[in-house]
Amino acid sequence: METIDQIYIDQIYIDGAYVTPHGTELFDLHNPATGDVIGRVRLGDETDARAAIAAAKRAFPAFSQTSKADRIAMLRRMHDAVTARADALTEAVILEYGAPASRARWMAEYAASVLADAARTLEDYDFTRRIGSATVTMEPLGVVGIITPWNSNAGFICSKLAMVVASGSTCVIKPSEMSAMQTRIVLEALHEAGLPAGVFNIVNGRGDTVGAEFSTHPDIAKVSFTGSTATGRAILKAASDTFKRVTLELGGKSPMLILDDADFAEAVPFALQAGYMNSGQACIAGTRILVPEARLAEFEAAIAAGVATIKSGDPRDPATAIGPMVSEKQWQRVQSYIRRGIEEGATLLAGGEGRPEGETGGWFVRPTIFTAVRNDMVIARDEIFGPVLSIIAYGSEEEAIAIANDTSYGLHAYVASADPARARKVAGRLVAGRVIINGAPMEPLAPFGGFKHSGIGRENGVFGLEAYLEPKAVMG
Ligand code: NAD
Repeated sequence: METIDQIYIDQIYIDGAYVTPHGTELFDLHNPATGDVIGRVRLGDETDARAAIAAAKRAFPAFSQTSKADRIAMLRRMHDAVTARADALTEAVILEYGAPASRARWMAEYAASVLADAARTLEDYDFTRRIGSATVTMEPLGVVGIITPWNSNAGFICSKLAMVVASGSTCVIKPSEMSAMQTRIVLEALHEAGLPAGVFNIVNGRGDTVGAEFSTHPDIAKVSFTGSTATGRAILKAASDTFKRVTLELGGKSPMLILDDADFAEAVPFALQAGYMNSGQACIAGTRILVPEARLAEFEAAIAAGVATIKSGDPRDPATAIGPMVSEKQWQRVQSYIRRGIEEGATLLAGGEGRPEGETGGWFVRPTIFTAVRNDMVIARDEIFGPVLSIIAYGSEEEAIAIANDTSYGLHAYVASADPARARKVAGRLVAGRVIINGAPMEPLAPFGGFKHSGIGRENGVFGLEAYLEPKAVMG
């Protein structure tokens, strides 16, 4: 049996077959809970990227002609194959990413469920419609380049590939190089699902080689990227020469509006869950908590009591809510933001620099909350991507909405109120792709994406599908 210190991922996937990459660079995989090296992945390079793009291009003409029923059947097979590996995928997410066990399980189940969701969307979708005298057909784009981040690698491989298959396009995938174990398990499942060769190809590799090739290559029609705003900007520029379509799912600094009528027994757990989800490494995290001045002291006391019950530590411990940061670099980055908050004059309400008590190795961060934060401070403007929250006091509801919208991002927003109708009114004035009221569950077929620097385009459901289609009108 393969043991952890023997894990060596030395194959990529092109034209329906596992192949040894042309690239020779070896990249270490770490267990963030210990900092230990647990495996190695051999990275592909530009030559591998070009071979993958050529395979996807060859596969496109036949795949674009497959029937809707065939593609629905493929999505169902993909769903079943990923579901069958939920245990292995959960284990890989804990091991190489450090997500707490329950979160890792959710991530594995999400990777499977988005495939079934895409099948549902496709079932209800009509590719042809009449507009006046024209017949309009929705055409697949061609070869799509998919690039995913480490904080939800398996989920984004599956959600983006699902739309590629649903639309009748083909693709090349560059997963996060830090998440190669998850990629390997998802790949085994997708291979088993038996799609035509070349429909999807996977090249482990670096962003500035394989990823950059996807953003510039003339045979790529669209890039679907999830990751940081800085990388999204570089991709958008690189893709402009060949007028590629882009879907960019980027960063966020989402507001959590606590309205003055909110019940703190519900609002505090909501704020902690939204702020610390995925150990704070979530693009949609609600990191700016806007609290009415008149109830500030009461809220501070309630959230300080709430955060004291949150455990940051071993992701395998069922009591753990916050796991380690994914890498030492990410740990250092979060620490530097905590120092920055103190230098800027914010007040630490909980947490602070360093590791939680008792944690010596591993990239663990103390769940941290700053109060007396102004919205122009760096900690309120930058995406920190760790468990660090900022409380910002406001006077009137009008001021709260202005502060919420005073950000370069616009991915998510959250509203807590005893009056759902009032909360919906406020939601209507927030500049964000999604607004969650009082911990309402996510609707998987609703559009997902952001305003402003949070990206371009939407994913999921019919909006996600149409982002992979081009309308064509025929008259006469
Ligand atoms: P990142 O931008 O560093 O990397 C994302 C991917 O892009 C990786 O696969 C990387 O190898 C690749 N890449 C890097 N440089 C590239 C280049 N020049 N050309 C092409 N590809 C390149 O992001 P990350 O650190 O992996 O992920 C965290 C970021 O992702 C956060 O900012 C987070 O907000 C964002 N994110 C957004 C969403 C969303 O849906 N909006 C979801 C998850 C994460």
